[in-house]
Amino acid sequence: MKIFNEIKLAQELIRFPTVKTEDKGIMKFLSKKLSSIGFKCMIIKSKGTGLKPALNLYARFGKSKPHINFLGHTDVVANLNDWKIAPFRGVVRKGYLNGRGSQDMKGGIACFISAVSNFIKNKKFKGSISIIITADEETTGYGCPAVMKHLKKKGEKIDFSIVGEPSSNKSVGDEIRVGRRGSMNGIITIYGKSGHSAFAGSYINPCTALAKIIAKLKSSSLDNGTKFMPPSNLEFTKMNVDNLSENVVPQSSSAKFNVRFNSKHKSASLKKKLSKIINAVAKKERCKTKIEYRVSGEAFYTKPNKEIYMVKKIVKKVTGNSAKLNCRGGTSDSRFLGSIPRLELGLRNTTIHMVDEKSPISDLKKLTKIYYNILENYF
Ligand SMILES: [Zn+2]
Repeated sequence: MKIFNEIKLAQELIRFPTVKTEDKGIMKFLSKKLSSIGFKCMIIKSKGTGLKPALNLYARFGKSKPHINFLGHTDVVANLNDWKIAPFRGVVRKGYLNGRGSQDMKGGIACFISAVSNFIKNKKFKGSISIIITADEETTGYGCPAVMKHLKKKGEKIDFSIVGEPSSNKSVGDEIRVGRRGSMNGIITIYGKSGHSAFAGSYINPCTALAKIIAKLKSSSLDNGTKFMPPSNLEFTKMNVDNLSENVVPQSSSAKFNVRFNSKHKSASLKKKLSKIINAVAKKERCKTKIEYRVSGEAFYTKPNKEIYMVKKIVKKVTGNSAKLNCRGGTSDSRFLGSIPRLELGLRNTTIHMVDEKSPISDLKKLTKIYYNILENYF
């Protein structure tokens, strides 16, 4: 059986121009590689950004428990002009791997596939390793939920997942993500009763109600934060009253807000809490309300468990870094993993989404070594 070299594999992956949900043959390429070392591969389709569906991959080696998983995405962001070295050439120069996706996150994928191939070839173990590769993490985010749905249907249970997103900052392994805050958007519309502003008592002003609602929401504490996450915060991002007259009290007013919430909340309970505050103020002001919510991601958090401490120890051994456990950064596919215990650990994020994205070769080597050691210690 083969051992895949992480640098060569990363170069090969970068050469597929997988912008948005374009596949360009990358999932077939990965399936072939993984099948050749004993993985059972399955392509799972989800809605793409263009006419073609997005192709995602679920690959599993072994049938028994425990089941460790690696998760990554092959799609990359655009921003492709003015590169010194063309973004999809995958050139190694002066100790760096250059190209779109070298850090986010084809580099990380190459590292875990390399580590897994080495481990399977050299070690006997009881349990399973699976790999999930999604095609739309940077855009629509339908891929990972589609894979999760498939696993549920098949009764497959992942015991621990490592998301290979570029979590590191100054050096590989200086940060490990153990959770992310949730994000939810809301639109409040307040309905009053319009009228001539000179005739107080004949109208119900929705502006007054809206102002009081905003003041109330901003002065209500949602929580005090957790050890790893700051207090949840609600911010108003837009206030609007359509009114062309100076002496007419309008019929309605509206405002938009975004809440970044920690793991003390689920979006459902948060909605209830906010709606209660809003409706109570509106009622006092004799106004009616319409409240719309859109959840872009639930908060999640894996309480540092023995796997997380094991990974922290390995990072220390390989890099000398005492990894900080935190919940920084934007969203990732990790938000779709439900209750699966997990962490995010990958390359550095110093050039992600930028022109001239690149990763030091030494980072890729270190990360591969970390992943290999994790497998050795997990089984
Ligand atoms: Zn990413």
